Amino acid sequence: MPGKNIYSDFSREQLCEEQQKLTEIYGEYKAKNLKLNMTRGVPCKEQLDLSDEMLKIDLGGTGEDIRNYGGLLGTDSSREMFRDLLGAESIDEIMVFGNSSLAVMHDCITRSMLFGVYDGATPWSKLDKVKFLCPVPGYDRHFSICEYLGIEMINIKLNPDGPDMDEVERLVNSDPSVKGIWCVPKYSNPDGITYSDAVIKRLANLSPAADDFRIYCDNAYIAHDITENGDELTDIFAELKKNGKEDLLYMFASTSKITYAGGGICALCAGAKNINYISSKVFIQTIGPDKINQTRHALFLKDKAGIKAHMAKHREILKPKFDAVARGFTQNLGGTNLARWTEPNGGYFISLYVPDGCAKETIALAAGLGVALTPAGSTYPYKKDPDDANIRIAPTFPPVSDLELAIDALCVCVKLAYVRDKLKLI
Ligand code: PLP
Repeated sequence: MPGKNIYSDFSREQLCEEQQKLTEIYGEYKAKNLKLNMTRGVPCKEQLDLSDEMLKIDLGGTGEDIRNYGGLLGTDSSREMFRDLLGAESIDEIMVFGNSSLAVMHDCITRSMLFGVYDGATPWSKLDKVKFLCPVPGYDRHFSICEYLGIEMINIKLNPDGPDMDEVERLVNSDPSVKGIWCVPKYSNPDGITYSDAVIKRLANLSPAADDFRIYCDNAYIAHDITENGDELTDIFAELKKNGKEDLLYMFASTSKITYAGGGICALCAGAKNINYISSKVFIQTIGPDKINQTRHALFLKDKAGIKAHMAKHREILKPKFDAVARGFTQNLGGTNLARWTEPNGGYFISLYVPDGCAKETIALAAGLGVALTPAGSTYPYKKDPDDANIRIAPTFPPVSDLELAIDALCVCVKLAYVRDKLKLI
């Protein structure tokens, strides 16, 4: 944190006293035998309950025999639902799959490795180097896919309005080994930022040195506002089309955090050329997706307006949880200049930034109190946070009372980790 903090002018003796005091408070929390988990962004039971009506829907009457093989691109009704949500012009630009968009992202990359990005393109596995740009902090699972497949990851600073576009343009437009960029343009995981109109327009006007470069636009949180007037996101697909560059886009979305994380459906949105090529490969992989679940979702959620109405119910459950975290941080760390945290308008996460070099120690101290947090470094490629400062808070699953306790305990750990670190240096 730039500037002075509450401990900056403390003498060694004062710091020792503070350490003693904090250690006593830490001991009091330890005696409570807490068992609180803020590691993964999963919906809570009350959120899952919101979709139980979906299981009672009569699935007849759509005109398609959804029980049989076939329908490789997904049912028309579910493609139409995602078309409306994602702002595509035609269902020809939409393919609907099973429950996991992450699996579709993984498949897009492994397909590029094995067969290339389009007919006739060189498979990446035949190249010396393949690089992806990774706005940081970001989603650990995106980075795991790259690491697993031997793709070199380059950190790109994620500013409050999106990735550092000067750096993105410099690398994408000059280096043919740069084949992709990960983007979570709305309510990014974990910072919860939404890319500005200017950033989206610059992304949509890239002139990649590689003709098989793609923007991996993971719109996991496109409908996930936790404030009444959520963030506005400029339509990247429309912007790319204006520039004649629609082939640069793979956009992904799913209903994992709309209906059931374990039983939703997901979509790929892309230009017709990409969809044709990808479907020709998926044809080898499967004879068709789960059309029963796709139909259930289309009948239950209907369209973008239906999804928005459903997400308003999620908002009622989630808003108090996000508020509890912000309140806890403000009460315990406000005015200390020891930490900063995000207060997003949507998504599933809050980012806490502790003093450089203190994230690992803070998380270890919290674990000692029974407060489980995402491991330090997880939000960076190769699990290496260069500043050891970012902690991802996932507030959706625990009840508010647990969150309040966990955040109070965590704030003690932040202070103790910092004071210990400072004493080491004096
Ligand atoms: N993308 C992002 C940014 C996520 O945060 C998550 C889950 O946390 C996913 C994708 C997973 O999506 P799915 O359940 O559709 O595989």
